[in-house]
Amino acid sequence: MKHADAAIAGAGIIGLATALELAAAGLRVTVFERGQAMRESSWAAAGMLAAADPENPTPLRPLSRFSIGLYPEFLANIERLTGKQVPLRTRQTLQGAHALPPGVSQISAETIQSIAPGIQPGGLKFFLLDEHSLDPRDIARALPDAAKAAGVTLLEETAVTAISDHVDSVAVQTPGGAWAAGNFINACGAWAAALADVPINPRKGQMLLVHSSEPLNVTLRIPQLYLVPRGDGRIVIGATVENAGYDKEVCPSIISALRNAAAELWPPVREARVLDTWAGLRPAATDSLPILGMDEAPRRWLALGHFRNGIMLAPGSARLLRQMILNEPRGVDAAPFSPERFAGMMNDNPCPAAI
Ligand SMILES: Cc1cc2nc3c(=O)[nH]c(=O)nc-3n(C[C@H](O)[C@H](O)[C@H](O)COP(=O)(O)OP(=O)(O)OC[C@H]3O[C@@H](n4cnc5c(N)ncnc54)[C@H](O)[C@@H]3O)c2cc1C
Repeated sequence: MKHADAAIAGAGIIGLATALELAAAGLRVTVFERGQAMRESSWAAAGMLAAADPENPTPLRPLSRFSIGLYPEFLANIERLTGKQVPLRTRQTLQGAHALPPGVSQISAETIQSIAPGIQPGGLKFFLLDEHSLDPRDIARALPDAAKAAGVTLLEETAVTAISDHVDSVAVQTPGGAWAAGNFINACGAWAAALADVPINPRKGQMLLVHSSEPLNVTLRIPQLYLVPRGDGRIVIGATVENAGYDKEVCPSIISALRNAAAELWPPVREARVLDTWAGLRPAATDSLPILGMDEAPRRWLALGHFRNGIMLAPGSARLLRQMILNEPRGVDAAPFSPERFAGMMNDNPCPAAI
């Protein structure tokens, strides 16, 4: 039987960021990915590092701040390991809301127009956030190579089909044979419930990518809609949040509705050329918070439920997981994310996953 100090199921951003953390601590890490690395939710994301989005649940704020603080180190590490840069695409977000959150100042109509010429604010109040965005496809091109360069073994097209507990290891079953792992980390995104009793469900998000000849240099976000420019004329417009099981089909009428809503906010979208459309499955716990911590047995860990913020939270969640696994001092309180909050209600999952 092959051996790893840490076996991770799932090569999305959460599994791979955790692999980098554990490899940096000297562990022999193997990541098992049933398809190709970074091709599910982590590929479909818009890439906003939206730590201050007023729609985020309040208990997420400390982990969000922790993660944003680690982001420069995360990107520099990827670049050091691969020579590949993951550039920031925007550095500010113009946020509209029905009511101003505490501590922010509303900006004037003139300032709004100078930041996003042509914007139609409707009845919303706008404020500026020092929030960055990046293109998750840039991360997808670099992060798997970074993990390999850090000594991680990445096995694609290799699903974990079952796990079982032994005295001093976890047995990890794959179609290619069994592995003995000192620790097993379930980072299977929306499919996590196939390997653990967790209330994780897919939340479908449909998006479109357009090309506009009018410049837009900031992310525009209002409740239920955002426009995220890539800095080269391309703008991502998203996104729906749907309970549609594991369906990833794109629905033309929904794309058209998203585009119309975006054009009401920023009219140049009406003339913009549609380049692409897609859908992805966000992994969501029933309370919309991540699940980070020990599973039912020692040596089994959960790195799940990052819902709408997994790109933003990856460096923070990965560091916190490493601190829990290696029993190091925690950089942030892990209590809000404890799997124990679901004790006794795990079987309520309406959407059990198939591998
Ligand atoms: C439309 C959309 C927009 C989004 N926008 C943003 C945004 O702007 N900012 C942000 O921070 N977040 C955003 N997100 C959320 C973010 O994409 C997710 O939270 C994050 O990608 C989750 O990462 P993950 O690694 O947990 O899951 P995934 O990326 O889905 O990775 C899970 C991996 O596990 C693999 N797997 C599953 N089962 C097994 C198994 N049995 N064995 C081996 N491998 C397995 C899967 O194939 C997959 O590759 C968005 C998501 C969507 C869909």
